[in-house]
Amino acid sequence: MLWFQGGACSGNTMSFLNAEEPTVIDLITDFGLDLLWHPSLGLATGGQARELFWDCARGQRPVDIFVFEGSVMRGPDGSGRFDVFADRPMQDWVRDLAGQAQVVVAIGDCACWGGVPATAPNPTDSTGLQFHKRAPGGFLGSDFRSRGGLPVINVPGCPAHPDWITQILVALATGRAADIALDELHRPQTFFTTFTHTGCTRNQYFEYKQSTLTFGDGTRQGCLFYEFGCRGPMTHSPCNRILWNRQSSKTRAGMPCIGCTEPEFPFFDLAPGTVFQTQKVAGVIPREVPEGSGHLTYLAQAAAARAAAPKWSKKDMFVV
Ligand code: SF4
Ligand code: SF4
Repeated sequence: MLWFQGGACSGNTMSFLNAEEPTVIDLITDFGLDLLWHPSLGLATGGQARELFWDCARGQRPVDIFVFEGSVMRGPDGSGRFDVFADRPMQDWVRDLAGQAQVVVAIGDCACWGGVPATAPNPTDSTGLQFHKRAPGGFLGSDFRSRGGLPVINVPGCPAHPDWITQILVALATGRAADIALDELHRPQTFFTTFTHTGCTRNQYFEYKQSTLTFGDGTRQGCLFYEFGCRGPMTHSPCNRILWNRQSSKTRAGMPCIGCTEPEFPFFDLAPGTVFQTQKVAGVIPREVPEGSGHLTYLAQAAAARAAAPKWSKKDMFVV
């Protein structure tokens, strides 16, 4: 496996290093992963590293898995010179290495869809490997297939959860690439079919339309959807199934999901300072209702749920 980094904050590398099931060490000792090079872990430096990269880029050294973290910076004027690495634009390394690898994996939002760097006005002309935000294409183009015949596997998140990263790498290292079913955004279905909302401990309050009153309330009472902008019902992620630090999630700790696995993240279309406020139509109806529902259905269901809300669900909370 060869891991390169483009327009990135290293958040996904930090996440990778924190993986627990399996750990990075497990990947190497138990699953036979041969880490050719990684920006934080690679042993080769200087000329030795450059030689390794060129061997891989020319196909003289096989690369089974090419991992990319960060956006591909195409600017200025398509030259890629905003991001020069080992004597050449990173975009040239990416084109060559993706063309040689059996499988290409994009880790984190920036590699998947361009992420924060690709947000307008996008001064570095950043993009993702095979998507630009939600539009197919990106740097490699929608027709790209790796030598193994696969599109880029996208593991989004800001950052991606440590175990999403290492579990996908285990599947690849053990020859199960073809078994990884992908959704329309090339995300592994095993992680991204369900929503952050799935498994949230506040679900019963969501059903009865009862909002929490306080941000950061760890008592897990009340839902964060109605006042605090929680995007859990609209965000595909397993954050309440595969817990963070093996024990919690944003919503369990009283922090709304801000939708970091979706291509539109960080939602800069929101007015400044309103990320943690539910956007409403006419001051009452949430602008975005849970995926799969419509505004009319939502209104009818909300009225019925409010009428049926039991006393326990209203304790210390207000009805919305
Ligand atoms: S806090 Fe968010 S994820 Fe949890 S139940 Fe409410 S809307 Fe769903
Ligand atoms: S809870 Fe939402 S914002 Fe937080 S990590 Fe999961 S998907 Fe991202």
